[in-house]
Amino acid sequence: MQLNDPSLLRQQSFINGQWCDAVSGDTLKVVNPATNAVIGYVPNMGQVETEMAIKAAEAALPAWRAFTAKERGAKLRRWFELLNENSDDLALLMTTEQGKPLAEAKGEVTYAASFIEWFAEEAKRIYGDTIPGHQVDKRLMVIKQPVGVTAAITPWNFPAAMITRKAAPALAAGCTMVVKPAHQTPFTALAMAELAKRAGIPAGVFSVLTGDAVQIGNEMCSNPIVRKLSFTGSTNIGIKLMAQCAPTLKKLSLELGGNAPFIVFNDANIDAAVEGAMIAKYRNAGQTCVCANRIYVQDGVYDEFALKLSTAVGKLKVGEGIKEGITTGPLINAAAVEKVQSHLIDAIAKGASVVAGGKVHDLGGNFFEPTVLTNVDKSMRVAREETFGPLAPLFKFSDVDDVIKQANDTEFGLAAYFYGRDISLVWKVAEALEYGMVGVNTGLISTEVAPFGGMKSSGLGREGSKFGIEEYLEMKYICMSV
Ligand code: ADP
Repeated sequence: MQLNDPSLLRQQSFINGQWCDAVSGDTLKVVNPATNAVIGYVPNMGQVETEMAIKAAEAALPAWRAFTAKERGAKLRRWFELLNENSDDLALLMTTEQGKPLAEAKGEVTYAASFIEWFAEEAKRIYGDTIPGHQVDKRLMVIKQPVGVTAAITPWNFPAAMITRKAAPALAAGCTMVVKPAHQTPFTALAMAELAKRAGIPAGVFSVLTGDAVQIGNEMCSNPIVRKLSFTGSTNIGIKLMAQCAPTLKKLSLELGGNAPFIVFNDANIDAAVEGAMIAKYRNAGQTCVCANRIYVQDGVYDEFALKLSTAVGKLKVGEGIKEGITTGPLINAAAVEKVQSHLIDAIAKGASVVAGGKVHDLGGNFFEPTVLTNVDKSMRVAREETFGPLAPLFKFSDVDDVIKQANDTEFGLAAYFYGRDISLVWKVAEALEYGMVGVNTGLISTEVAPFGGMKSSGLGREGSKFGIEEYLEMKYICMSV
């Protein structure tokens, strides 16, 4: 890996403004999912180091929250600029540890930076309220204050954006934060910590520590100094963390699994629907929590959609993300490949037909062929479970009410998509879908200016937009007798 600035490859954790090793001296290996080659090592930290980072965040809090919003915004703005200035290096680090194609990695750096820019601006707009008094001598007001020390646990599928979506609003609000990135993708996170340092964000305000997920998670959840935990990852772990946070009654933001329906109605523009499905399904090799998981196509256009989608899928280029022209990188590890394969085998055994792809890629390793299945029905695992891979199952439907029922028939409620042109149908379906985010005639909905988050088992809270900063603020009502 040839970085323009080699000092962005950090193999230590960043605690209280210092680069540190684990107390034990233990390390964890980080591998490239495309080649399984070792990229480097990071400290295997645990409870002791997490407690140190939390204490440092507590010590840094009074000075950080005392800055004016404009001063905090200016430091965040510098951090935003540094992410953009170093986007080639950050993208290369990301592709090397996560696998996504370089162009997609660069896109993620821009997206990640956009949250910092947005919240640098929002810091100045943390408005309170005044309320007409309920008695003649009373003056009432509401002010908003930072919740205090916060912690974040993030996944590997978006190594940069999942961090900035949490850290930027936290820091803008005047909170301090300790982050544990996924063990598969620590180098992007550590490079961002280096850039935060260069941006002048003071020691202890933003720490990143790597190591044992269970030990770090336990300490973040049980330590009473931490007033809020923000987590993005699987629903199972989210539920565990919520239970662990109960005794200290922490505020929580949870962005968990999805099982997104993607519906194509008879009157849809089919070419646009295919284009949307390609993005919603195959971006990041199908490894996003908003990826289309179940594609429902109305009977009048089913065959046309299936043919056009499989033709488009046939043009995808699978390979190592750093190579020119690659559109689909490897999956994150062997377990991810096994999951896709098990969903495929189950569907075929129950009668599904493969119309594109359909097996582990000839490159071997963690590469899987982008796949399309027809003749899919609800008895198959793909109907209920999140595949998290490049496998598109096409369900046929005829009735609008029936497809709405099927789309909602899941414990999840993160993202949903549909293509159709009749205005009454569009409103009916958009309102009936039990999802936090709905894309209508588009397969790409993520932006820093809109609220990202889910209903039901997909989590709690929203990230991004003017709403995202509220998650890091406490409301205080002041009643003054005059
Ligand atoms: P994924 O399947 O996407 O890896 P996980 O929920 O397992 O989803 O991981 C998301 C994040 O949660 C990662 O940073 C991971 O290290 C962390 N994590 C996993 N297990 C635990 C746990 N028991 N306690 C705290 N964090 C955990």
